[in-house]
Amino acid sequence: MHGRRKLGLDYTPLFRFLISKVGTRWDDVFSEAVARLDRPDPIFWLVARQPHERRRYVLIGESSFYNGLYVDEAGTLQQVDPLVGPSSLVPLCRCCTHTFNGTPFTRPFAGSGMPLDPDAEAQVEATVNR
Ligand SMILES: [Zn+2]
Repeated sequence: MHGRRKLGLDYTPLFRFLISKVGTRWDDVFSEAVARLDRPDPIFWLVARQPHERRRYVLIGESSFYNGLYVDEAGTLQQVDPLVGPSSLVPLCRCCTHTFNGTPFTRPFAGSGMPLDPDAEAQVEATVNR
């Protein structure tokens, strides 16, 4: 059983907004996002500030996953891995509804101790060798 730890604020609308803006100018996205927030920090839970912070996906709270984002050299907001999505990951437990960008995972719970991201090792390998 996992307790449902409530965050002080629900940033789901922010995360959905950021993901909807992939492919657009980061300066505009940031200005619009920060104007709606009491603090800018949650923006950078998804958007990597440094190359080493880039993640294929980010876990928010117990079981809400989102695409990891970054800003490319041209100043455009990009997904770290455009292929990762609701059908990529395996739920970590039976008791929580796991979602990716708000959409429930399509893979079923496969037992405790099973990897969250079965494709990850192959992907990491591919990234390193690129
Ligand atoms: Zn659970």
